[in-house]
Amino acid sequence: MAETPELSVVVPVFNEAAVLPELQRRLSTVLAECAPAHEIVFVDDGSSDESPAILLAASDADPKIRVLRFSRNFGHQAAVTAGIEHAAGAAIVIIDADLQDPPEVIPDLLAEWRAGSQVVSAVRSVREGESPIRLALIRIFYQLIRRMSSVDLTPDVGDFRLIDRRVADALNRLPERNRYVRGLVRWVGFKHSEVRYRRAGRFAGQTKYPYTKLIQLALDGMTSFSAVPLQLVTYLGFAVSALSLGLVGFALISRLAGGQAPAGWTSVFVAVAFLAGVQLVAIGILGAYVTRIFDEVKGRPLYIVASDSKQDPSPR
Ligand code: UDP
Ligand code: MG
Repeated sequence: MAETPELSVVVPVFNEAAVLPELQRRLSTVLAECAPAHEIVFVDDGSSDESPAILLAASDADPKIRVLRFSRNFGHQAAVTAGIEHAAGAAIVIIDADLQDPPEVIPDLLAEWRAGSQVVSAVRSVREGESPIRLALIRIFYQLIRRMSSVDLTPDVGDFRLIDRRVADALNRLPERNRYVRGLVRWVGFKHSEVRYRRAGRFAGQTKYPYTKLIQLALDGMTSFSAVPLQLVTYLGFAVSALSLGLVGFALISRLAGGQAPAGWTSVFVAVAFLAGVQLVAIGILGAYVTRIFDEVKGRPLYIVASDSKQDPSPR
């Protein structure tokens, strides 16, 4: 791989042994045809199965394949970020390992790029093999984030896309650690276009995004692109204060008018409980932002590369 490749394909991998051979077969068929000068950058995100062995064997056999291995699991977004940072191509395609993003769409992405687009997103027209509850939650999240922030995100665009070298350079300059890559790609701008495709179910294996990771991703997306939760809490605070002032006024007036103050502890109890709830929510939301600030201030690297097949060809 002497000269710079035209296309880099970045594949985050976490325990995907069951799909890797099929992925490799389909990827190389497609790439041989549409972009002979390419490299494939597999980022092994601390897999505990056979994935690293399969990848290293592949990179030994094929100089176009590069394998970065993380020292542990750092998460999908960190793996995508590492892939983009290490890719050399004039164009970079980010694709999931599980074949939910069909490699056969890559030629369409390339065609758009060659026609002058700098970001080409693959838009899912159909999503097969995902639970209705999961899809409903994902839809609600995107509704929320669209209302609350200025970045235009839709539920039908994931991380499957092509970005131009210039976009990659811009992304690499962004210092933040809690990465929500699809939001950042929107944020950096450049000329966008879209290609539609059918999203298949997973080829094999289980999703590596349990609800806990999905919620974490949603929180990252929300807090890095919107301060609306903080503002909402402030408004709520004002509203509750106004309400309690109103109650005081009501009590005074009824006392002066009839001599009989509203009796009973129920109202007091409800008010106290309500206020406590509001305050806890407010503290929680503040905490979410403070945590992010704390993460950024610590300045720890986003990921740690344990080995790179390009630098030391046979790490075992
Ligand atoms: N992945 C990763 N690190 C993780 C979780 C997932 O690199 O901690 C990879 C995974 O191997 C796959 C992609 O990210 O290539 C998307 O994950 P998955 O298909 O499990 O998510 P889903 O499609 O179910 O949302
Ligand atoms: Mg998947």
